[in-house]
Amino acid sequence: MRSPMVISNNSGGDVTVARLESKSGRVHIFISLYLPYERPDPPGHEVEELLEDLADKGHLIIGCDANAHHFQWGSNDTNVRGWIDTMLSSRIINSSIGEIYIRKSVMRGTPQGGVLSPLLWLLVINNIIMDLEVTGTKVVAYADDVVLLIAGKFVQTISDLMQGALVTLSRWARRNGLGVNPSKTELVLFTKRRKYPTFTPPKLDGVRLNLSLEAKYLGTILDHRLSWKRNTEERAKRGSVKPPLCHFLQVIHKHYSEKNQQKWLDEIGCTIPKRIWPTLSEKRTRSLMSLSKPDLKLVVGIITGHCKVRAMTSKWDSDGIDYCRICQDEEEIETIEHLLCHCPALINVRHRLVGELVSHDLSSFSNTDPVVILQLARRLKWLKTTRQTPQP
Ligand SMILES: [Zn+2]
Repeated sequence: MRSPMVISNNSGGDVTVARLESKSGRVHIFISLYLPYERPDPPGHEVEELLEDLADKGHLIIGCDANAHHFQWGSNDTNVRGWIDTMLSSRIINSSIGEIYIRKSVMRGTPQGGVLSPLLWLLVINNIIMDLEVTGTKVVAYADDVVLLIAGKFVQTISDLMQGALVTLSRWARRNGLGVNPSKTELVLFTKRRKYPTFTPPKLDGVRLNLSLEAKYLGTILDHRLSWKRNTEERAKRGSVKPPLCHFLQVIHKHYSEKNQQKWLDEIGCTIPKRIWPTLSEKRTRSLMSLSKPDLKLVVGIITGHCKVRAMTSKWDSDGIDYCRICQDEEEIETIEHLLCHCPALINVRHRLVGELVSHDLSSFSNTDPVVILQLARRLKWLKTTRQTPQP
């Protein structure tokens, strides 16, 4: 094929004529022209003249734009087609930084943020989406962010199918004057398999794609196990409270903490818990709430005294025996305070758990983690079952 040659005699204005000759001597005449449709006798005398001049010079191929009209091209009015054509081919961008000013014609793409831009792009991309879907590739596309999905049991087969889809996509892009960028392409194998399978990743435009463990699509992080953990972490990080809102929250938090503290101290009843835990603590509440229901019941029984210590059971039973079952000291009533603070038979247990041989007051346990109290309660398991022989 020899280089095309513009036939200047027939070109000019809205007409361009080029001659192309193949190696075998076959001649093609390409004509591109604009025909303002509002002329009374389309296709107009220009076409008739071209046909007369060039019909015997070779095979004629005529491309004409006959239904777009715009004031800018000298038409009497502007229609939708003319408006779109102008938007795509007659855009001018003005840009300035300081004293530098640039004015440039833009002949490609659609305006960023233009109302019509997404629709025009859909008209362009629609064919490739349909072509790929026919081959079994699921396509998810939002503007120019395209995801190709292939599901299957055998990883290498999936990779081979993806290779075919990428070749199709790459060819389409080239045909349409577009480019695909391997370095901006993420390849993720989504699998719940314990052992991550090995396979040969496909290539895009001759570049072997790197396998990633996650991909970000429209702001969402998709991890290879689809656990959403990474996405949740990222959201939490972005949503973390920043000053000055943070300061307001601290003020609000302090206000309600003080209010709740006063409410707790003003509470009628709850004598033992208020002596053990006079100050409210979020950390302790969290620790309590992390316990299982039976363990929580056990700890609450201890700190409220509402468990089967003899000080309580002797009120219900007719025997009236209320002395400590552990130290067997008939002078000592079996109360929570005695068990936690003074019972000589529990010295070792108390020392191991709270670091004291004898506690003077229940408030010694104010900073003790509920888990430690639970251990003590477990040691005194007869508290919840009663009638069993205590074994300190
Ligand atoms: Zn005792």
